[in-house]
Amino acid sequence: MHLAQLLVRQARVAGDRPAIFHGPHPWACHAEWAARAAGLAHRLRQGGLQPGERVLVFMRNHPRYLEVLWGAWWAGLAVVPVNAKLHPSEVEWIADDARTRWGFVTADVAPTALRGLERQVDIESPEADDLLAPLDDWTAHPPVERAPDDLAWLFYTSGTTGRPKGVMLTQRNLMTMGLTYFVDVDAVDAGDAIVYAAPMSHGCGLYAIPHVMAGARHVVPASGGVDPAELFALGRALGPLSTFAAPTIVKRLVDHAQAAGLTPEDCAVAFKTIVYGGAPMYVADIEHALRIMGPRFVQIYGQGETPMVATALSRRHLTDTAHPRYRERLASVGVAQTPVQVRVADAQGRDLPWGEPGEVLVRGDTVMAGYWRNPAATAAALRDGWLWTGDIGALDADGFLTLKDRSKDLLISGGSNIYPREVEEVLLTAPGVAEVAVVGAPDPEWGEVVVAFVVPRPGAAVSAETLDVHCLAHIARFKRPKRYVFVEALPNNHYGKVLKTELRARLRPPT
Ligand code: AMP
Repeated sequence: MHLAQLLVRQARVAGDRPAIFHGPHPWACHAEWAARAAGLAHRLRQGGLQPGERVLVFMRNHPRYLEVLWGAWWAGLAVVPVNAKLHPSEVEWIADDARTRWGFVTADVAPTALRGLERQVDIESPEADDLLAPLDDWTAHPPVERAPDDLAWLFYTSGTTGRPKGVMLTQRNLMTMGLTYFVDVDAVDAGDAIVYAAPMSHGCGLYAIPHVMAGARHVVPASGGVDPAELFALGRALGPLSTFAAPTIVKRLVDHAQAAGLTPEDCAVAFKTIVYGGAPMYVADIEHALRIMGPRFVQIYGQGETPMVATALSRRHLTDTAHPRYRERLASVGVAQTPVQVRVADAQGRDLPWGEPGEVLVRGDTVMAGYWRNPAATAAALRDGWLWTGDIGALDADGFLTLKDRSKDLLISGGSNIYPREVEEVLLTAPGVAEVAVVGAPDPEWGEVVVAFVVPRPGAAVSAETLDVHCLAHIARFKRPKRYVFVEALPNNHYGKVLKTELRARLRPPT
């Protein structure tokens, strides 16, 4: 069994059951989806793409996202789903690194031709209609065979060195991730539905897999994004819905429910399960969410390198208020998910005692095969079969993991990862900037926001406005600093390294 076969199975068993919705409107039943995926696969092969090749997907959330994913897998290809918020120059770098020849885009995120692609298909064009025209005899065109270790998903994470790294996820990784959902997150059956509000290029899109396994329905909001009123309306029409969301999105749903005066019972009509993760969730926030929306939350902790699967905090643990360590558990990311082992180690890889913080290590069938064409980074991240996550955490005697910090300098704003180094490199190319250090500042809405400390060159006229314009020209909007602090010098340690801890401390409100 591989990913494309999951759709074949559902299309055979119950082909006329609705599969994809755009807003409240039916888009395709399972048999239509399979026929379009088979049609696309056939034309990709005719176009000269060979099994194992990669195709770029640079799209806002769209029903055709699902058709392209399964069409590519049907043809034996791997997908390279790219964050729709990236700057075209960042996407061109990824397309070049991944050696993609074809790309599927929506015109809103890719209004012009991306350099390096041989063929760029606007998914809403007549060209796409032709490529996705259903093959009526799709059962006569079975998916290209794949082995468990074949590449299925090449996911680029921003690197601390400033350049993103391609995380190689195999068929086995994604099949295991999908099956794990049923054991550690939620039961799903054919009557259920998932809604894609968070970007489909990330975790939310990966959760299509367990929902295809179960023959459930897939709902793509007409807005393609997060509009709480729209999501609740969709939930009432097609739900109860399940979804994956970063804490920032959860907060918006909860705020909407509260402002609209919805009871937990009303929320249960719209939402079955809200899986949250990707960034820290504060205890007060999840308590509030449970109060307003009721017991419909599950937390997961994972990372691109072990997608959606490291630990989970179950619905039961999130609602077991009578437990003596309930609040500690709420602050944790839960216990190891079924297919992985999780431990906390010192720099030499030795297990640390309960309660002592160290680096979080994960081993199991969801852990990536390595970084694409980057053996040095692979060797650093995968040692003796263990993934070194770069996260600092502590385990308690019951197996609950609490994350303390991130050993990498990564900051997470609204669920999106931002590497300060990348922003610093751009700011340092702005005229009049001598030195710069970027850190995250705690923010009640976004989790963290980007703050840049800037040392101007003597006599140079540098302003927040000019730097903002410079950033907009070079990096994705969401990565640019929300605040600039102009200083005469940066604090350094003995080795000349900037003391970011001191900068962060300056941003904390006085206690
Ligand atoms: P990504 O590779 O984009 O999925 O980002 C993964 C990183 O997000 C992890 O290494 C953690 O630092 C953070 N993260 C993921 N899930 C959680 C969670 N449930 N709580 C806190 N941080 C998380």
